[in-house]
Amino acid sequence: MTRYYCPFCSIRYQIHKSSIDGVLICGQCGDPLIKKPLINFKKIIGFVATLAFLTPLIIMIFFVVKDFDDDKTPNNPHSIVLLTFN
Ligand SMILES: [Zn+2]
Repeated sequence: MTRYYCPFCSIRYQIHKSSIDGVLICGQCGDPLIKKPLINFKKIIGFVATLAFLTPLIIMIFFVVKDFDDDKTPNNPHSIVLLTFN
């Protein structure tokens, strides 16, 4: 994955060259390449939006699994009788 890109050319057809003085330039238009930031503002907004949609689902799954793990049988024998004869 390259971290440099030309803002004027299509991303699919970018050819990266190094000029005589060592600067990375675009092979098509000859403009200097721009360094792509690792984490930009769009990625942070997307991550927050994804968390906003997934957090309720994760919490729901957690409580459903916790509910299955709880022992639901009553310890009082009279309540078992009430449950079976009603
Ligand atoms: Zn270019």
